[in-house]
This record gives sequence, C-alpha cells and structure tokens, in this order.
Amino acid sequence: MTHSADSADNELNSARGPVPGGPLVPGRAAVWLAASGTVGVLAAAAAEVVQTYFAPFLIFPLLVGLGIGVLLLLLLRVLHFAHRPGIVWGVMLSVAMCVCGQHYLAYRSDARRLRQRIQVREQEYQQLKATYPDLPELSPPPPVPGFWEHLGRRLEAGVPLPFGMAARGWQVAALWVFDGLLVLAGGAAIVVPAMYLPYCRRCLRWYSTVRGGRIKPALADRLARLAKLPEPQTTRLCRYRLLCCHGGCSPTRLELSWEAPDGQNYLVYAWLDSDTRRAVNDTLDEALQTAQ
Ligand SMILES: [Zn+2]
Repeated sequence: MTHSADSADNELNSARGPVPGGPLVPGRAAVWLAASGTVGVLAAAAAEVVQTYFAPFLIFPLLVGLGIGVLLLLLLRVLHFAHRPGIVWGVMLSVAMCVCGQHYLAYRSDARRLRQRIQVREQEYQQLKATYPDLPELSPPPPVPGFWEHLGRRLEAGVPLPFGMAARGWQVAALWVFDGLLVLAGGAAIVVPAMYLPYCRRCLRWYSTVRGGRIKPALADRLARLAKLPEPQTTRLCRYRLLCCHGGCSPTRLELSWEAPDGQNYLVYAWLDSDTRRAVNDTLDEALQTAQ
C-alpha cells in the first residue's frame, strides 16, 4: 500500500509512521513563545533565590537548564505543539530570558543594598548633626549605577573561580556566555528527544498510550509475529504498549520491550496497518479473557 499524506484511509492503512514533527499552528505558537519566555523569567527568579544556598560551579547552570527543560516539555505536551523550529526558538527564548533575568535580578539586589547603605549613612549623619550642629555638610552619595554600568563594573571586578583562580574582563564575559550555553544544553537535553515523539498531523495531538501492560513471553511472541517484529528472546514477562493519537486517525504504534537473560533491555516497535492493529487487539482481548 502506498503512503499518502492526503488520503486519510491510506495513512490509516499504511504501516509507516506519521510524518515527524507538526505544522505551525499560529495560536499555539504564540502561546508557546509567551509561555516559554515566562518560564525563563520564573527560572531566573528561582535560580536567584536558590544560588544563595547552593550553586556548584558548572553544575548549577546545567540544573537550571534541566528545570527549564522539564517545564517546557510539560508545556509542549499540554499545548500539543510539535512545530520543530518553533520549539527550538521557544527553548532559546526561554534560556535567554533566564540568563539575562539572572543578571538583571542580581543587579536589582545590588542596587537595593547600595540604596540601603546610603539611607543608613544619611540617618547616622542626621543623628550626629543633632548632637554636633557644627558638623560640615554631608558629601552627596555616589549615584546608584544603571544596569549596563553594573555589568561593566562586574567585568572589571572579576569573578572568583575554584582552585584560587579568578576571571577578569573578557574572561568574565566568556564565562557568562559559557554559563548560558550550559543552561541551553540542560534544556535541550530534555526538549530535543521529546521533539521526536510521534505526533498526528490530522488531529494535531501527540500520541499517547491507549493500551499497555505486562504479558507472558508466549503472548509477546504472538504479537511480535503479527507485527513482523523480532520475537523477544526471554522467559520473563515482557511489556507492550499501543500508542495512538487522540482521534485514532494515524497509524497505531506497537512497542515491545523485554529484559534478555544477559540483563540487557530491548525495545522494538512497529507501525500497524488497520488489519494488523485489529489482529493485535483481538489477540490481546482473547488472552486477557482466558487469563481471567
Ligand atoms: Zn490523529
């Protein structure tokens, strides 16, 4: 049977998987990008709080990235958004918001501390002035620097590194970029594999498990033969999963997994045409009925 994306019957009867990725749905893309940016800002705020207690060098940005990745993955599943370039843009936006957000929040707390110090100095001066009226006027406080000036000062001041080393000037800027790349790596490690999960371009939904469980090797062998998969070489219970989209409009995927006697885990899968899918379901129904 030939595969055609235009004919529902052909696609349903085809033993091939759905075309990878999803189309650009403008509404979902807009929500995805807005939510990705928000996730980045929230991650920056959380990281700013956590890093005062716990911030291991190099590992912390990776952990922040993994956190962003998990939240973005949940978003993708809830929104049923599968447009790959859109997903990549969302991840990059989220990471950029997180990294810039962390610098901005650090600036805000530095500026707040500086303002508090100026206030305390002013109060102390007023108390002294009450006792010694001849006290000369207080020199005006230094202005609180703006965000860019703050970044410039941090480049000059340098950053302490482990083993007594320190980064200065351009090295600090390079460290910031590297930090951002680590956050991106953490986020991508979660989101990129999820982009390859099966998705139905007809009902615009991710596939989900419609049936699954543990079965005896004999039954697994029968399913494997029906789906033209290698038969599990094991005497232990095997696992099966049937995955399909919400509307049931794309081919069903059968997954079989088992642990071989040597301890290695195997996973095989096949796309089922409608006849095979019916045969697989009948076989499972029959086996479960006799088991009861
Ligand atoms: Zn569908």
